[in-house]
Amino acid sequence: MGLLEKLFGKKNVNKAFDIDKYNRANQKQIDKIKSVYDMDSISGIQAIPVPTAKEPPENLPAVVVKVEYILQRKATEHKKAGRMELAIECLKKSNEIMPYSSVGYLKKDYERLVEFLKQAGRFDEARAEQERLDSIFGDMQITKEEAAKMRSRNANSGTDLVHVTGHLGCCAECAKYRDRIYSLSGASNKYPPYPQFLVENEGHCGLIEYPFYDGFSGFRTMHNGDVDPAAYSNRPFIDDRTGDERARYDESQRKTREEAANRKNYDLLRELFPDLAPKSFGGYVRMKNANSPNFQSIVSKVKEAGYFFEE
Ligand SMILES: [Zn+2]
Repeated sequence: MGLLEKLFGKKNVNKAFDIDKYNRANQKQIDKIKSVYDMDSISGIQAIPVPTAKEPPENLPAVVVKVEYILQRKATEHKKAGRMELAIECLKKSNEIMPYSSVGYLKKDYERLVEFLKQAGRFDEARAEQERLDSIFGDMQITKEEAAKMRSRNANSGTDLVHVTGHLGCCAECAKYRDRIYSLSGASNKYPPYPQFLVENEGHCGLIEYPFYDGFSGFRTMHNGDVDPAAYSNRPFIDDRTGDERARYDESQRKTREEAANRKNYDLLRELFPDLAPKSFGGYVRMKNANSPNFQSIVSKVKEAGYFFEE
């Protein structure tokens, strides 16, 4: 059965997809959820039940009708109306429910709560939530558990082989492993075993993986070259990035470090010098990049108080 048939039933597949009808059906479900759960009081939000088991996987989950997503939308609504406590409560509940959802949420989806807590001046809670998320995700956007599942889906695709695609401007380590076919079981004597580095650092530089069917799947190198996939996959495992690629990677790392320092400095301002802090992070960055007199005066006030800005 095809994907559309699974989703809409065999009868309806040939009919044109009626987006209005789909939206109306979703809205009905959203209204129903909102009528069952009270999302307008702290106790009401806290009373919304958290699932005890993971939702079964769906090919195309209707995100908009998920309780956690409705809570996220509600959080935006509360925040806009100045009801920050309710907004935060919605996101807390959403963070509790998300791990059980069939939707694969990313670390940044969970970190919205951290940002709301900071905006409300609840810095201790923000730190605790960030630490909790760091312990689950590390530096990655998906959990190790999710990554392992994705790999086992590849392993269940009827082939032991996986194509790890190429990526320009990745790190020195990923460069050694990109653009090759691997044997997930390690049993192939034609292709190298799936590298331990990729097991432990899933998604490190965003290398994408596809099942590979030897003799059927096409293989072209990331430079669009026509090669023998087995010979090419066994080429020396070295960092073969060009100078341009290294420069691109170093620049992206520099930007990441700069962004992290900016965020830290802005948080320091918001927490300890709220009167000096610009209203938004974007405002802070603009001020800093322009090195405006106002920014210089903030830096010296922070210094006088015995704190320092990270470079
Ligand atoms: Zn990497």
